[in-house]
Amino acid sequence: MSSPSFRLTRSFAERLPAYFVAGEPMLVRSPRLLQFNARLAEELGLPVEEMDPDRLARVFSGQEMLPGAHPGAQAYAGHQFGHFVPQLGDGRALLLGEAVDGDGRSRDIALKGSGRTRFSRGGDGKAAIGPVLREYLVGEAMHALGIPTTRALAAVATGETVMRSEPLPGAMLTRVAASHLRVGSFEYYAAQGKFEHVAELADFAIARHDPELAKEEDRYLRFFQAVADRQAKLVAQWMLTGFIHGVMNTDNMTISGETIDYGPCAFMEAYNPDAVFSSIDTMGRYAYRNQPKIAAWNLARLAETLLRLMDPEDPQRAVEPATKVLEEFLPRYEDLYRAGLRKKLGLNPGPDSDQEEDVLASEWLELLRTNQIDYTLAFRSLTDAAQDNSAALEQLFSAPGEIQSWLERWRSRVSRQPAAEVAESLRAVNPVYVPRNHLVEEALHAASNADDLAPFERLLKVLERPFEEQPGCDHYAKPAPREFTATYETFCGT
Ligand code: AMP
Ligand code: MG
Repeated sequence: MSSPSFRLTRSFAERLPAYFVAGEPMLVRSPRLLQFNARLAEELGLPVEEMDPDRLARVFSGQEMLPGAHPGAQAYAGHQFGHFVPQLGDGRALLLGEAVDGDGRSRDIALKGSGRTRFSRGGDGKAAIGPVLREYLVGEAMHALGIPTTRALAAVATGETVMRSEPLPGAMLTRVAASHLRVGSFEYYAAQGKFEHVAELADFAIARHDPELAKEEDRYLRFFQAVADRQAKLVAQWMLTGFIHGVMNTDNMTISGETIDYGPCAFMEAYNPDAVFSSIDTMGRYAYRNQPKIAAWNLARLAETLLRLMDPEDPQRAVEPATKVLEEFLPRYEDLYRAGLRKKLGLNPGPDSDQEEDVLASEWLELLRTNQIDYTLAFRSLTDAAQDNSAALEQLFSAPGEIQSWLERWRSRVSRQPAAEVAESLRAVNPVYVPRNHLVEEALHAASNADDLAPFERLLKVLERPFEEQPGCDHYAKPAPREFTATYETFCGT
C-alpha cells in the first residue's frame, strides 16, 4: 500500500553527481495511457490509487512529477559490437528517482522516450509505440518466466509523431529496475582515467546490490565476483528458455543481473544454436550460442575498470585474482546450464548425476537441432511423454521414428520416480507460452497501425501465466509459420 507521504529518493543524483545531468522530459500534447501495471505500482507503494487514466498518462509521460522526482540522464560509455564508444548515456531516457519498498529495497523509476538530453547525439530522444510495447510485453513475460528483468510500469502514447523510416506514433515507457547501472557505467570514467569517480560508482553499486560487502577490505574483487555470478545465472536462464538478447553491448549488461533493453531480442522457435535475429548483427556476434562467451567478454571489460580499485598501489597485482574470477565464469555458467537442462528433462539436477544422463541431454538437443523442432513445445511435450503419452512429442517430428530410441532410454531413466511427480516437475520448468515473434509483431502492429490494443492485452494476459495451459489459447503456444521465421529480423528499438 502506498502512503500519502510517498516520495521518490534521489540517491543516484545526490551521491553520483558526476554521472547525473539534470533534465526535463519533453512537453507532449496529448498523452494517453496505453497500459498500466497496477500490481507493480502497488508493490512499489506508488501513490496512484486516486489517479484516473488521464492523470496516470500525464505522470507517466513526465508532464506531472511524482513526489520527490528529480529527473536526469545517467552517463555511461560502452563497447558496442566490440568497439569502445566513450560517451553513450541516456539519450532518450530520464531517471526520475528511486522508490524504496517496505523491505528497504530501492528501485529506479525511469522514463524512456522522454526527449533529448545532453547524451542524445544525433537522436531525437523519442520512442515509437511498437518498441515501447515490445519492451513492455517481453519484459513482463520474462518476469513471469522467472527470469530477472527490468519491469514495465506504464506505456503512454504521446500523441507526437516520431520519424523513423516512416512516421510512427510516439510513446513513452516507464521502466522499473533494481538499478540502471551497467558495465558501461564503469567504463565511462575509467576510460577518462578518473578513478575517484569509478570508486564512487562501485561503492554506490555495492550499497545497492551487495550491501554485505560494504565493509570488506577486498570488496571490489568480491563485488566483481558477485556481478559475474549474477550474470552466469542470468545467461543460463536465457539459454534454457531460448532467449536471444540480440545486442549484448556492455551498455546493455546490468550490474544487478537483470535483463535490460529489449530491442532486437527474440525467442528461438526451431532449435538452432546459431540463431541470430538482429538485423544489425551481420557477423552473428550475439547469436544464441555466443551469449555466455559474450557475457564473459563484457565481464572482462568490467574487471579492467576495477583493477585500480582492487589494488590502488599496484593494479597489476589485482590482475591475477580478477582473472581467476573471469576464468571461473564459463565453468560456473556451464554448471548452471547443465543443471537447468537436467531439470527441464526431468533428470536428477544434482552435480553427481551420471554421464549417461548428460549423453541423453545432448542427444536430445541434437535431435531438436537436426529435425528443426520447436524448442519450447518439445520440452513441454515431455510432460505428457512422462505419463506414457508421447503423441504430442512424436507429432513434432516429421518422421516420428527419429525420437523412439531416445524416448525409450529417457523413459527408463525418469521412470525411477513416480510419473505424476516427474510430470509435475516438468510442467513447472517448461513453459507452454513464450512471446513468440509472430504474435508479438501482430500485437504491436495492431496497436501501432490500428490503435487496437486488444491483441496486445490478450497476449500479455496469456504470458503472465506461462506455465499453465489456458483454455482457448492453443494458438499462443504454436510456432510461427515457417515463411515468417525464415525472414524474421528484429530491429534496434530506436
Ligand atoms: P540502445 O540501443 O537503446 O541500447 O541505445 C544505445 C545508445 O543510443 C544509448 O546511449 C541511447 O540513449 C542512444 N539512443 C538510442 N535511441 C536514441 C534516440 N532516439 N535518441 C537519442 N538517443 C538514442
Ligand atoms: Mg541500451
